[in-house]
Amino acid sequence: MPGLLGAVVNGAAESVIVRDPSGRVLLWNKASEALYGFSREAMLGRHLHDRLNAHHPTTITGLEQHLLEQGHWEGELKRTTASGEERRVEVRWTVLRGPEGHPAAIIEYGRDTTRLSVIELESRLQAHRYRNLFQAMAAAFWEIDFSEVSRMLAQLIHGGVKDVRGYFEAHPEFIDATLAAARVVDVNDKSVALFGDGRREDIIGGSLEPYWPPESRHVYAESLLAALDRLPHLSRETRLTTLGGRKIDALFTVCWPSGHHGRGTVLIGIIDLSDRVAAEQEVRASELRFRQLFQAMSTALFQINTTRQRALLAELEARGVEDLAAYFDSHPGFLLTCMDAMTIDDVNEAAVHLMGARDRSELVGQPVTRFWPPSSHPVIRRSLLSSYRKQTSFEEETVHYRLDGSELNTLFTLNDSPELRARGMVLVGLTDITEREAAQKALRQVQSEFAHASRLSMLGELTASIAHEVNQPLAAIAAHGAAATRWLSRPEPDLDELRAINANMVSDARRAADIIARLRAMASNKASERQRLSPNLVIEEAVRFLHHELMAHEVELRLELADGLPDIEADRVQLQQIIVNLALNAMQEMKRACCPRPRLKLRTLAGDGELRFELEDSGPGIPPQHHDRLFQSFFTTKAAGLGLGLSICRNIIEAHGGRIWAENIPSGGARFVFTLPIAG
Ligand code: ADP
Repeated sequence: MPGLLGAVVNGAAESVIVRDPSGRVLLWNKASEALYGFSREAMLGRHLHDRLNAHHPTTITGLEQHLLEQGHWEGELKRTTASGEERRVEVRWTVLRGPEGHPAAIIEYGRDTTRLSVIELESRLQAHRYRNLFQAMAAAFWEIDFSEVSRMLAQLIHGGVKDVRGYFEAHPEFIDATLAAARVVDVNDKSVALFGDGRREDIIGGSLEPYWPPESRHVYAESLLAALDRLPHLSRETRLTTLGGRKIDALFTVCWPSGHHGRGTVLIGIIDLSDRVAAEQEVRASELRFRQLFQAMSTALFQINTTRQRALLAELEARGVEDLAAYFDSHPGFLLTCMDAMTIDDVNEAAVHLMGARDRSELVGQPVTRFWPPSSHPVIRRSLLSSYRKQTSFEEETVHYRLDGSELNTLFTLNDSPELRARGMVLVGLTDITEREAAQKALRQVQSEFAHASRLSMLGELTASIAHEVNQPLAAIAAHGAAATRWLSRPEPDLDELRAINANMVSDARRAADIIARLRAMASNKASERQRLSPNLVIEEAVRFLHHELMAHEVELRLELADGLPDIEADRVQLQQIIVNLALNAMQEMKRACCPRPRLKLRTLAGDGELRFELEDSGPGIPPQHHDRLFQSFFTTKAAGLGLGLSICRNIIEAHGGRIWAENIPSGGARFVFTLPIAG
């Protein structure tokens, strides 16, 4: 044993024993020799508990385990001395740890209590229980001697200070002085770990000053006021500082034992709240981020409070209503009740602007009902049904009222995520699609103008055909006229013959007028006009336009028109335009590829609720790299082409509720197919 330390330990009146974690004795002082009758030599390296035959109501191994977990234990053991006598010994065990925190040794202070009275023993036992608890608690406990502080407070009051609180506020230095005057008597291991970075000796005997940063001293002042008011205890959240200068968010509790009134020691408990505070700060920060995002978004956002509306739906659910749609149908007023139960909790700037409000206050607190025109109620009904099915999002185009009652075309988007739901709200985004609608309208207008232009250029191409078409009835009329003149010049004109000739002339004139009317229709820019049509008749008429073109290019045309087809509802002129367009394209391709026997086949057939039109050619077909671009505007492979024909065809077909596509025929050539729904 080193000289000085050895002298100190040996000089101690108490038994001091140091053992290693396995229980082997490392140090055994003089008082231990006297108490147990074993010499130092006899004990060094021996197992302490075995050698002294130690006993405790709980097992010794249990005690050792507790000691290693808590770092400290104190209590009473029975041990047997060298002469075989049983002794009651009060021991205090503390674990000494190595640099890595592993237990290195256990130091024991022991006192013989064999001869103490029963009462004394009982009170000591209580004290031990208290101390073991004091050490084992997860909270940091401090035993503080406040006697000097009490004196200072008493002096203050005797000095005539009435408003102690006011005095504290005016004299922060007094509070500092009371902190310096409060003495730390004892702390538990948790306090050492939390505040002293493991240095118990730096805390004990010191003052409270290092632990109370200036910004928290008002809390300490409050605890003094509470003591003066004789409150039994006081709890406050505050910030404290460790000896190393780290700030800790803590729940500080001070307890004055009854009848204490400033005498003796006071117990302070401190619970480290740093983790909880950090978590709360994280929540606050993310809430802030959400708010900032909410405000900064250029989409109009509404935070809707759905607590009452959810309660309504929950009530239905509880009553076993599964089919909300049916419930809406049988309770026409329920939709409005639900809407009235939803109010606006918050809106962003974009929403204020969109709704034409002066500021948020004009919208916040309003039920959503006033923003939904009756025509849009089916949309909100569908959104509620989607929500009832626990779907997290919903989107539909609809109409909303602005504050001034004007209507707004909107894209209504609902976010109904479980996180929002748990907070009794949904987020609604509204996008103004009035402009988009206007743009689409303009686009439709441009397209129809293009369609018109394309028809005119098509008619230009078809001039020869048209001339031929019109010429035929005119020539027939002329021929009939000449024949009639001849019949009239006879001495006895045959009236029956003349009547027949006349009838032919009328019908030919009608045919010519018909053709002219069709041409006018094609050339004019009328809005689409739907009527019930027989699909085969439309094709036959279109083919008449193509007649001359087919002859000129020596194209063989085959019609495969199915019998008994149902009618379609379509614009006759537009439909003919498509057929003529597809046929002209096919003829051009076949010519370009110098196809030896150009052939076209037009087919109609009825399919699944729709009619199918097919046009096949014997041309070169569609190169695979063009396949996906054929129907795009301005895609053309022709030097003088516009690349609009097919895109217009697609627009027309889609506007009629049909589809159009192109494919290659395995045996050669291209096939263009379009479908149209059967008229109801
Ligand atoms: P344009 O006739 O002005 O080129 P379209 O939109 O009518 O515009 O046609 C686009 C392109 O599709 C044509 O340039 C051609 O390359 C291709 N195409 C159209 N019809 C056929 C067909 N029957 N066979 C092969 N390619 C075709």
